[in-house]
Amino acid sequence: MPPNPLDRLMFAQGGLCFFCHKPLLPAEASVEHLVALGNGGPKHDGNCVACCKTINALLGSMSLKEKIRLVLNQKGQFKCPNETGVLKSTVANAVARPSSVQASVSTTEQVNLIVHDLRKRASAKPRTVKTLTSTISALFQRKLSEQNVLSLIERLRTQGVIVVSGTKVSYELPNEVA
Ligand SMILES: [Zn+2]
Repeated sequence: MPPNPLDRLMFAQGGLCFFCHKPLLPAEASVEHLVALGNGGPKHDGNCVACCKTINALLGSMSLKEKIRLVLNQKGQFKCPNETGVLKSTVANAVARPSSVQASVSTTEQVNLIVHDLRKRASAKPRTVKTLTSTISALFQRKLSEQNVLSLIERLRTQGVIVVSGTKVSYELPNEVA
């Protein structure tokens, strides 16, 4: 194995950042100690990951608990911060500005948008699969294929957000996440 810890970790991670999973250029790579050295963390590879310098700087000497919270707060859409250290939550942005929805947003973001939209509708939610289909289609400015919309409905169903019975739909919306 490579003698240099960074080279070793990079090899183990397939050259990808541990957090954002983007290809990591040597100039942008750094070793992050999950339990910070200042908090008594060991130097061995089991406590280390290779990642973008920006996220390493942001994590600094946070406790492991705070780091896990920060990662979880990105809701599976982790992007290492840009040079100014601003961590962008793409989910929050997409929910705040539904008109800016791109075709490239992930299914998770799409589901979050739909749940957000349904919650706003309160008692005026679509009551049938057909109207829910057109509601979702309209929400994404008709940029999704019918197959996409149907798979989103299926995802909502498997997540327990909606209950489909015949052609009828009822809702079990999760509480708004802060
Ligand atoms: Zn990264």
